[in-house]
Order: sequence, then structure tokens, then C-alpha cells
Amino acid sequence: MKLDVDALRYLSKDDFRVLTAVEMGMRNHEIVPSELIDRIASLKHGGTYKVLKNLLKHKLLHHDSSKYDGFRLTYLGYDFLAIKTLVNRGVFAAVGRQIGVGKESDIFEVATEDGTVLAMKLHRLGRVSFRAVKSKRDYLRHRSSYNWLYLSRLAALKEFAFMKALDEHGFPVPHAVDCNRHCVVMSLIQGYPLVQVKQLQNPDTVFETILGLVVRLAEHGLIHCDFNEFNIMIDDDEKVTMIDFPQMVSVSHRNAKMYLDRDVECIFKFFRKRFNLTFDENEVEDDDSEQESDEVCWPQFSDIKKVSGFLDKELEASGLTRKDQDDIEKFVDVDVEKDSGSDCEETEDEDIADQTNNASVKDFESMSLVKQEGDNLPDDVNMAHQDASENEGHVQTGCNPPENREVEDNAGDDDTRDEHGRNSEEDEHDDDPELVKRLSKQRQRAIHAARGRRKVITSRNTYKDKGGRSSHNSKIQKQLNSW
Ligand code: ADP
Ligand code: MG
Repeated sequence: MKLDVDALRYLSKDDFRVLTAVEMGMRNHEIVPSELIDRIASLKHGGTYKVLKNLLKHKLLHHDSSKYDGFRLTYLGYDFLAIKTLVNRGVFAAVGRQIGVGKESDIFEVATEDGTVLAMKLHRLGRVSFRAVKSKRDYLRHRSSYNWLYLSRLAALKEFAFMKALDEHGFPVPHAVDCNRHCVVMSLIQGYPLVQVKQLQNPDTVFETILGLVVRLAEHGLIHCDFNEFNIMIDDDEKVTMIDFPQMVSVSHRNAKMYLDRDVECIFKFFRKRFNLTFDENEVEDDDSEQESDEVCWPQFSDIKKVSGFLDKELEASGLTRKDQDDIEKFVDVDVEKDSGSDCEETEDEDIADQTNNASVKDFESMSLVKQEGDNLPDDVNMAHQDASENEGHVQTGCNPPENREVEDNAGDDDTRDEHGRNSEEDEHDDDPELVKRLSKQRQRAIHAARGRRKVITSRNTYKDKGGRSSHNSKIQKQLNSW
């Protein structure tokens, strides 16, 4: 997916406020009702409808009017929220080229103020098989709505927590820098995925190192579960770094033995095919190589001295709870049934990896214009991480009604002008008359409400918009007012 961060520089404070309001609404809604967005955002001068149109124009939101008029974040919208937060935190200042694309992630180079280049991984769970996810995954069926933001955020948090813990225990992994929403920032590995490497000086040594890592991980109570040539990076000195941790499980997992065997099998198969290594005939079939057999033996699950739960403390320190781990593991489980073994095969990923790595122009888009005074996205306005069922009925009515706001018919005009001074209303969404109609209706209602001629729009049960005005009001207001 292309990540055009250009628009990020031109988005106003109100744009981000409304974008965050949609994110908040997505706690309990797959599609967030427009009226609810307006109430959560509570723009000082009104004009939510114009901001929504601007966000729609930049593809940060998706409009849906099939059941009721509403919006949801797109992955790009979610990317912008995470990137803005990380830029405001000073984690990086510019976004560069894409350096990797996985089944459910995109990886970009980012640069800090002092020019250090890091890697940013944006998780995209559900991108590949949204329908399959929706119909098959039992635990999701029991939730009020499928929440890919929640899953992507969990995947990122899990990856960050594992990377940090493994780093602390001396495993060769990227250095975990920071994490926000579905985004993990880590050190950039100077090397190539093993899948792109056609020749090695010391294939035996590399093979043993890699197999040793699988064993050491298991001794630490962990199984990678996707340990293959796509997730092992190797540099010019043939130093190995392992990446990609959202699917890791504990050795106490009920399928642990199968996962371990599969990881080991992938390594054996790859080295046999690519580097003509030979192994014990009993362990690897189809051995047609002429080379002498090595003494390498297949690590057995039962032989590994395990220290179960070894990293639990470290993981919790990163904010990853047991429940988070359970949730994401359920997700991984089904993947395994569906995709079993697929990652062992060479796929078109190789071509994609080639393409992305061959891109030579380092073209960093500076994010320096993004920062606006007092414009910090609160880290904890991070609604997607909340389990939808837990939060049912809490947020939506937690916003001040608009009666005290000054709203003019043309309020917000300035904010919706783009960088060329065009008014987005003039040239956008003429092709969606229904949307225009609904939005102007909404605007009229807001204006009337503001002038006190009309009762403030109340919660609507059809939107699962229950709950009373409460302390949540002030909490959300505080969060929103702080930027
Ligand atoms: P996925 O979970 O989608 O498989 P990965 O974490 O495996 O994503 O990353 C996909 C690709 O991105 C890798 O094969 C590698 O080429 C590149 N990549 C990922 N992390 C880094 C990093 N820290 N440094 C350099 N390249 C990376
Ligand atoms: Mg991968």
C-alpha cells in the first residue's frame, strides 16, 4: 500500500480532531455515525461535515451509508494518527521509501532529526482476508463488531514487547525503539532477507546459527512460528538477525510441538534446496545432493530444556497483558490451519522484496510541518486497543452537546481549504450527492442545536450508542482539548 504522507503536512488541528473522534467511535462501531463523530469532536466552531469531507478526499476515512450515515478509518487514516503521534514524540521526523511488504504489514524507512534511519512497520491485519477473518474466526464472531484496528494494534504491541524482551536477552533482533497504535519503530537492519541470498560463504555456519536460535528461543519458552527465509535477515558478514514476532507463542501452547517442527522443517528445507546442504536421510526426505552428510540433527521438542514463561515479566513491562497475548494467539491459531506450510515455499514475496530493496532513491518526506503548536495527539486516545465489548456504552455520549458553541453557516471554511487555498467543498464529492445531502442535513441540525432552537441530538440505540453523560464527558473533552 502506498503511503503518501504529503497530505499529513496540510492537515489541520480540526482534521486530526475529527480523525481521532472517528477512531474513538470505532471502539464500539464498525461504522461510526456522523452525528456521533460530530459530538465526540465537538469542534469549537462546528464544521465537522466539512472536515469529514476533507478527510474523505485524502482517503483517511471511508464513508458508508448502507445502514446509517457513518464513517470508519481507513488504514491510511490510522497510519496518519500513529505517524503524527510518533513525530510529535520526537521518535522520527521524516518518512522515506518502502523497504518491505509482508502479507499483513508494510515497512518503511523513517529518519530521526539527526539523520539516523530507522525502520517503521505498519501492521495491517485483516488486509488479506477480511472476509475469511470475519466468517471463520470464532472469537471475533462473539464480538459486536470486527475490529481490525484492535488486532493490528495488538500485533504491533506484541511485536514490540517481544522484540524488546529478546533484545534484552541477547537475541539478534532489531532494537525496538517505540510503538504506537499499529506501528512499531525499530532499528534498520543492514542486510537482506535470506530469501534473496543466492550464495553464502559459510552456509553450514549460518545454518547452525539459525537452528541454534530456534533451540535457544525454545529454551527461553518461545517458538517463533514463522521462522523461515523471509524472516531471517543476513548482512555482508553473514551475521543473522531474526525479525517478525507477532505470531510467537509459548512452548506451553497446545500446538507448540507442531509449530517448532514446522519452523525447523522450513530451515532444513530451505538450506537443502538453496545451498545444497545435506542432512540425515531420516529427517529430510528427497535428499538428492551429492554433498557429504552433516552431523546436524533435528531438534526435538521433547529434548529441549524449557523454561516456560521465562519472558512474561519483560512482556508485561511493555504493556502486553496475558489477555492481549491470548487474543492475538487465537488469531494466529486459525492462520496456521489456513496457511500451514505456505511460508516455507518460495513465493512472489521474493519478487516484491527484490523490487522494494532495489529502490535506490532515498527520498525522505520531512514531517516537520506536521507539528502545530499545542497539537499533541494524546497517546491514550488510542481507542482501537480497547476491547469493543469492554467499552460498550461508555464513549459515545461522553461529549458535550454543541449548544454553547458558536456555529456559523460557513464555519470551518478556513480549515477545509487545502494547501492551494481551494475550498474542498467546492470540488469534492459532487459525485456523491447522497453524502452531500446527509452532511448538509447534519450541518443544519448542528446549527439549529447551537442556536438553541432544537433539542440536542440524543443517543440512538440503533447505533449501540448507550450510556449517560458522565465523567467520560470531561475525560474525553480533556483529551481532545489538550491538542
Ligand atoms: P510481515 O510480518 O508482514 O512478514 P516482516 O517483519 O517480516 O513483515 O517484514 C517484511 C520485510 O520488511 C522483511 O522481509 C524485510 O525485508 C523488511 N524489514 C522488516 N523489518 C526490517 C528492519 N528492521 N530492517 C530492515 N528491513 C526490515
Ligand atoms: Mg515476515
